[in-house]
Amino acid sequence: MPRVHVALLLPLVLLCAPLSYGQVPKDDDAWFSANQDDLIGLYKHLHSHPELSNQEFETAKRIADELRKAGATVTTGVGKLGVVGVFKNGAGPTVLVRTDLDALPVVEETGLPYASRAKGKDPAGKEVGVMHACGHDMHMTCLVGTARWLIQHKDRWSGTAVFIGQPAEEMIGGAKEMLKDGLYTRFPKPDFALALHVLNDGAAGTIAYTSGPALAGSNSVDVTIKGKGGHGAAPHTTVDPIVLAALAILDFQTIVSREVDPVHPAVVTVGAIHGGTKHNIISDEVKLQLTIRAYSEDVRDQLVEGIKRRVSGLAKAHHAPEPTVTVHDGTPPTINTPSLVARVVPGLEKELGASNIKEVEPVMGAEDFGMYSQGGVPIFMFRLGTIAPERMAETKGKGLPSLHSALYYPEPVPSLRTGIRAMTAAVRELLPPRP
Ligand code: ZN
Ligand code: ZN
Repeated sequence: MPRVHVALLLPLVLLCAPLSYGQVPKDDDAWFSANQDDLIGLYKHLHSHPELSNQEFETAKRIADELRKAGATVTTGVGKLGVVGVFKNGAGPTVLVRTDLDALPVVEETGLPYASRAKGKDPAGKEVGVMHACGHDMHMTCLVGTARWLIQHKDRWSGTAVFIGQPAEEMIGGAKEMLKDGLYTRFPKPDFALALHVLNDGAAGTIAYTSGPALAGSNSVDVTIKGKGGHGAAPHTTVDPIVLAALAILDFQTIVSREVDPVHPAVVTVGAIHGGTKHNIISDEVKLQLTIRAYSEDVRDQLVEGIKRRVSGLAKAHHAPEPTVTVHDGTPPTINTPSLVARVVPGLEKELGASNIKEVEPVMGAEDFGMYSQGGVPIFMFRLGTIAPERMAETKGKGLPSLHSALYYPEPVPSLRTGIRAMTAAVRELLPPRP
């Protein structure tokens, strides 16, 4: 997941009062206390054993074991490495709860006693450090805690709970693979799908949410700008692709500022540029890696068309060969279903106190959770504050490491406790009490 628009969330975070733990119903408080050591142990294990996207072999195995131990009927290998745990508990609707499984190619620098020292190989075969820098370890532990709580309290609800561990969220592919492999046909099709995602700048004990459009649609785009190489001292005998790339990068910014209707959000970011070998050689190509973000297919198509038109026009103007533009499969926007949000939020407020639940603006980050709305399934992903209240007070919410940073870490106990309480409350809002 996606970077969060810090400016939009800061006011929220500063307004949030710390969670009043006194509001916990006594038996649930006792339940968490009884499970805390074991769940924190699981969290720390997952944190120090992260695996990259599409390589979550041990992680998937562990989540499958935990769901099995909790009492769910578990199937592994769904969409390659996906895990599905089903618990049927009488008549009633089906609620799906999703966690992601993967970590990122980041060398951890938190200095925590349980920090990751794991290494992995990225898709290009390069050795990289691996870290749960996006909090998916917290998501997994919340899922396991939610499964345990719901199954141990099965007398309180009726229906079917489906718990899934999804691989490859960071590469935007895991949800699609699981759905393609029959998530909605081989297993009970959900009436509702829920997920949570950590927040890097929200206080532990708080939840943030957005009704309707919440996270943008995203595509990766590769652009290869071609030229004619030669001696750095004889530019007149060459077509310099580095100059063309520089022009293109600036020109891309005018697609958003001059062509897209300003009331429709859009982003074009050039995240990587590779070209050339040394000071005095004009290379013959430059490769650009872009991410584009939008909330509608029309705007997405407009961005792609604008990128193609600009690099093609530049090539013509400079007698360069035609560039290539490849648009990779992306993810649709995550649109939280307003009727589902309206149903779940009062449950969260009741559980955690209304002052700890805040509505926030949408952001341009992306997620593949939006894909679970396939076939009209209502979906809701909410955000889990993870920063210790004293750290929030000390920093005034400013300068905290972003998600994907080597320095990001959630405060384990209050984050986990709030995540489990919020998710179990959300599920209970949707599954009727036992007759
Ligand atoms: Zn992420
Ligand atoms: Zn994430």
